[in-house]
Amino acid sequence: MIDLPLFPYHRDPIASDSVRETDARCDCCGEKRGVTYIGNAYCLAQPETLCPWCIANGNAENKYDASFFDADFVDDDMNPVDLPPEVHSAVFGRTIGFATFNPIGWWVHCGEPAEYIRRDEPYDMIFECRKCGKQQTIMDLD
Ligand SMILES: [Zn+2]
Ligand SMILES: [Zn+2]
Repeated sequence: MIDLPLFPYHRDPIASDSVRETDARCDCCGEKRGVTYIGNAYCLAQPETLCPWCIANGNAENKYDASFFDADFVDDDMNPVDLPPEVHSAVFGRTIGFATFNPIGWWVHCGEPAEYIRRDEPYDMIFECRKCGKQQTIMDLD
């Protein structure tokens, strides 16, 4: 059983296949944490091993200028939503990634980014509002 830090915007990184076990040291913190992120990191340096803790605490974002999503915030109608830079950073820079076919719309409800719950194969991404609990399906077609 892999123990992971909590990601407020991504409920279950193990179910999302975002991590695997490893004996390697994390390139970012140098620690052997036993687990590495295996999704995309959007940054120039491509760390081979990156522990989920370095993503959660912002070290990877700061050290590599990394983000873990090709995404934009969207409302119910898939229109873009403007949120402050610190919110972009919390979601796209300090949330462990999950695989998508395309750049995605990250659902915003009640003025806040929603939490990514799971993928219903093949194309539905399920998000849940962190304030009111409403769920929304965002399509990700291949
Ligand atoms: Zn690390
Ligand atoms: Zn809501």
